[in-house]
Amino acid sequence: MILGHAATAALGRRLTHAPWAALLLGAFAPDLMDKPLGLLGLTGSRAVGHTGVMLLAAGLVCLLLIRFHRLRPATALAFLGMWIVHLAGDLAAPRMLFWPLLGPLPQPSGEGIWAALRGYAFFYLRPDFTRAMFWLDAGCLLAAGLAWWPASRRKRV
Ligand SMILES: [Zn+2]
Repeated sequence: MILGHAATAALGRRLTHAPWAALLLGAFAPDLMDKPLGLLGLTGSRAVGHTGVMLLAAGLVCLLLIRFHRLRPATALAFLGMWIVHLAGDLAAPRMLFWPLLGPLPQPSGEGIWAALRGYAFFYLRPDFTRAMFWLDAGCLLAAGLAWWPASRRKRV
């Protein structure tokens, strides 16, 4: 759901006017942690970055940055909010969210880097209309498009 996560950041920008960097970083943070390790076959494609433990750790880091580096609380909330939206958009299972309380993280699939990359590409090139993730992605793109479209038309008039 690469485009869908970007769309949620765009929607967040439209609704909150928070900095793009915080919104995009929060929208992609779990994948930025987990996808490279997953592509290398070290973890599943969703691992510790998609857990509540990591979200709590990110929240603690934000608190420290607010206290010692003057990070604006609204910016931290935008970042953490997009992280939560990412987990919701991924339809993260309770086992992931509450790791390690409900069991271990999924094991690496062992399919290899090219199969994983092909899977990401085929998500858009050969969409599976029966999958909820496809429609969730499409819904995020539609919502962001609707949120931004009227503003862009107003500027031209
Ligand atoms: Zn993800």
